[in-house]
Amino acid sequence: MSSLSLDRILQSQGFGTRKWCRSLIEDGEVRINGVVVTDYRATFATEGLEFELFDEVWPYREHVYIALNKPANFECSRKPSHHPGVLTLLSEQCEWRDVQPVGRLDHDTTGLLLMSDDGAFIHAQSSPKRHVPKVYLATTQDAVTDELIAQMLAGVQLHDEPAPLAALVCKKISDNQCEIVLEQGKYHQVKRMLAAAGNHCAALQRIAVGQLTLAQLGLEEGEWCYLEEHHLALLA
Ligand code: URA
Repeated sequence: MSSLSLDRILQSQGFGTRKWCRSLIEDGEVRINGVVVTDYRATFATEGLEFELFDEVWPYREHVYIALNKPANFECSRKPSHHPGVLTLLSEQCEWRDVQPVGRLDHDTTGLLLMSDDGAFIHAQSSPKRHVPKVYLATTQDAVTDELIAQMLAGVQLHDEPAPLAALVCKKISDNQCEIVLEQGKYHQVKRMLAAAGNHCAALQRIAVGQLTLAQLGLEEGEWCYLEEHHLALLA
């Protein structure tokens, strides 16, 4: 169990520079167990720690794991060029903690995007070896036919891939919608697979990663939440 000084605790939780965190503490803004602590050198065990700041109770989190219901017209890249970055949808604390997206969704794709400041988690989740299934709801320009479904399941050849790529699941949801489950995360994979099968993806939403679904999180577009242990277990 680790103990840290209060200024380091606040800094680690994304409340700004060490200097700024010290000034918050010295100004009497921080309470622990209902008591104001003004000595920034005071140490506390981090496990199970909660502190009050800005009229809110903050549990200490060694790392943060976040689910965002990404709206269209936000970019996942670190240096967005044409649209605002997804980080702008999170809190300032997340930005200070250097939260990053786990993989990417296209700027016009909506839905479940995982984010974290835990490099090992990001790496493990994005690793092609893990085969975490991703579930997409695609709206197609032309009707979803049996032939389209059959091609997506049998595998379609994309021009820069050595072998055909197949969907794990592809099922018709309505005349112009199908649910597609992929194990890989290649560039524009759903859109390119649908194009290779002779249709066009008019809109794309990611509705689940592993067993974690957007529906169970109940997030409106643009909303985000912290993922707790029981959510993370669904990604294992
Ligand atoms: N496939 C795509 O084509 N785009 C995405 O954003 C995700 C998967």
